[in-house]
Amino acid sequence: MGEETSLIPKCEGMTPLEQALSSPNFPYYEHLRALLCSYLPPKAVEAIDRTFFVADFAHKEQKRASGEPYIIHPIAVATIIAQMHLDTESVQAALLHDVVEDTQINSKMLEEEFGSTVNEIVEGVTKLDKLRFHDYKEAQMENFRKMILAMTKDIRVILIKLADRTHNMRTLGALRPDKRVRIAKETLDVFVPIANRLGISDTRAELEELCMAAIYPMRYRILKAAVTRARNNRKEVVSNILEAIKARLKEANIEATVTGREKRLYSIYMKMVHKELQFREIMDRYGFRIILKDVDTCYRVLGQMHNLFKPRPNGFKDYIAIPKLNGYQSLHTSLVGPHAVPIEIQIRTELMDQMAARGVAAHWAYKESGSKTVSTASQKNAQDWIKNLIDLQQSAGSSMEFVEDVKTDLFPDSIFVFTPDGMIYNLPKGSTPVDFAYAIHSDIGNHCIGARVNHRVFPLSRHLESGQSVEIITSQGASPNAIWLSTVVTSKARSAIRQYLKGLRTQECMLIGRRLLQNTLRSVRIESLTEEQINSILENFGKQSLNDLFCDIAMGNILTVAVAKFLDPNSHKHHELPVKGTGGMPFTYAQCCLPIPGDDIIAHIAQGRGIVIHNVNCKNLRLSDRGPGKTLNVSWNKNVTANMEFKTGLLIELENRQGIVSEISNAIDIAGSRIESINSDQKDEKSFIINLVVTVRDRLHLAGVIRRIKSVPNIISITRRR
Ligand code: MN
Repeated sequence: MGEETSLIPKCEGMTPLEQALSSPNFPYYEHLRALLCSYLPPKAVEAIDRTFFVADFAHKEQKRASGEPYIIHPIAVATIIAQMHLDTESVQAALLHDVVEDTQINSKMLEEEFGSTVNEIVEGVTKLDKLRFHDYKEAQMENFRKMILAMTKDIRVILIKLADRTHNMRTLGALRPDKRVRIAKETLDVFVPIANRLGISDTRAELEELCMAAIYPMRYRILKAAVTRARNNRKEVVSNILEAIKARLKEANIEATVTGREKRLYSIYMKMVHKELQFREIMDRYGFRIILKDVDTCYRVLGQMHNLFKPRPNGFKDYIAIPKLNGYQSLHTSLVGPHAVPIEIQIRTELMDQMAARGVAAHWAYKESGSKTVSTASQKNAQDWIKNLIDLQQSAGSSMEFVEDVKTDLFPDSIFVFTPDGMIYNLPKGSTPVDFAYAIHSDIGNHCIGARVNHRVFPLSRHLESGQSVEIITSQGASPNAIWLSTVVTSKARSAIRQYLKGLRTQECMLIGRRLLQNTLRSVRIESLTEEQINSILENFGKQSLNDLFCDIAMGNILTVAVAKFLDPNSHKHHELPVKGTGGMPFTYAQCCLPIPGDDIIAHIAQGRGIVIHNVNCKNLRLSDRGPGKTLNVSWNKNVTANMEFKTGLLIELENRQGIVSEISNAIDIAGSRIESINSDQKDEKSFIINLVVTVRDRLHLAGVIRRIKSVPNIISITRRR
């Protein structure tokens, strides 16, 4: 289509760099480009030039809250990604991350232009953006974070989301103060723990500090000034200890990088808040880091340090042998320095140091391997890393929980869905609303008649997806359906349904079958059938006993009419019909007005559809449909209708709130009615219209049902559907 080509200009005859240079926003891109050239091959930079051109073109009408051109934001996000030395596709996706959400370009166009990987990463980021983070309870946060990870097939989605959040936090100043605080709290609750979980401590630390500055601007300023002062006073002590360490390593002929370690403002603050230590005590601890070539040297250096300064009892931790949950590896030791100064030293390899800063992101770093499948190799690296961690944890005998944790976090074969009140359930992939209903409680599964997902009616057989909010509609009269067995995936649902069906065969089945047959036989009582009659029925239908026959009737294998006909081939002729005046001709009830006994009715002779019974006032029966030859005057035959049930339609307008649908369905049960079908539509922001079909005996019964429903709070109106 011509329209699409104008959204992504082809620019034939121009090199990608020329395209990029043609943009007035190129100066914003220049710095990122230099960074890319420092670690990516020219071909990759070329691909990113083109990506910049397209992203810039797409956002050209937009401005940031600060008034600057919008493209500054994607460029900044891509820069954070490039600082982690992530691969080409990550940088491309970072540049494009807001394109699908905010511009005319859709994901099909992205896939055609940049390939499926870039498109999938962008799609993932867009999907995460749609989740609302701030309105879930504290207790659910951990599950919520897991859900975000489970929704993410590609960890690069999270890395870009974190970079996106980092830049938004850096530029919070352009927003209203209340908005600043809300975003900062959300960041602290959701994104900081995720960064921590994935071991990306550089990002975590930056986010924490930005959050603190936004939430507690005063405390932040005061603490920052105090830390700067304290550091200046302690410079000399630090350099003395540093020299002592370096000298010792030189003596031992060990090549190492030694640095003094600055404490992060936020972690100082948290220690003070939790009263673990006072400001003075925190600042009086001196931290150092020694980076080495290999693991063996780490332990040798540990020995050297314990020899140089006196180690504190219980002050040693070996996170190399037993890494932290997020993969962090290092040796930590606490020592007593000159003049009894507390010293903390971290000892690790270069690789471990990179991992400590970038965590899982380190695995998507571009590597010059000469192979085309850099990202596949990285993916494998990440998996190996995790597998490695699992092995380590297991051999160290520590918690199985960790193994499960990492599995669900990073290799999602499960989904996370919400109940309407925000509880999160973890289900296997492919689960349906029925699985969800049984996961909550087997009673809910057994009485489930429908589901609403994100406030819309949702088929019971369709697969759920992570992030959806699922409401199960139950009815006390309802029971499990054998068809569910073909769609459920959880063993809990499967065995509960089987259990029910097994019980059904023996007990209720017989009762239901008997009742169905009695209804058809009408005046002929089953109890008064002669033994001869019974035997001939059983023989004819190939059954051992009446109970067997009833079961088959209930299961729908044998039709009751067939049994009735067998007993009395002329029976249907004497049959009285529920409506008098149709001259014995078959008829149906109109679906528009669904008449019930007590209503004034009229029979319409519809062409090709035979006789249809309408409510006299039915709007669908126009004047031209009425009159002699087109309608018959009919009435209810109370003798027959007394034992029957009829469907009728109700429209309920209500204010939406938690659980209202199940309260309505309860009210209907209590009134002795059944829900045949249910549909709902949003009317406006606050109210919904529910379209119900229920079964009743007559108008009197219906009045009772309506009274019951009205007793449910927040019902605005109930009307009969006509
Ligand atoms: Mn963004």
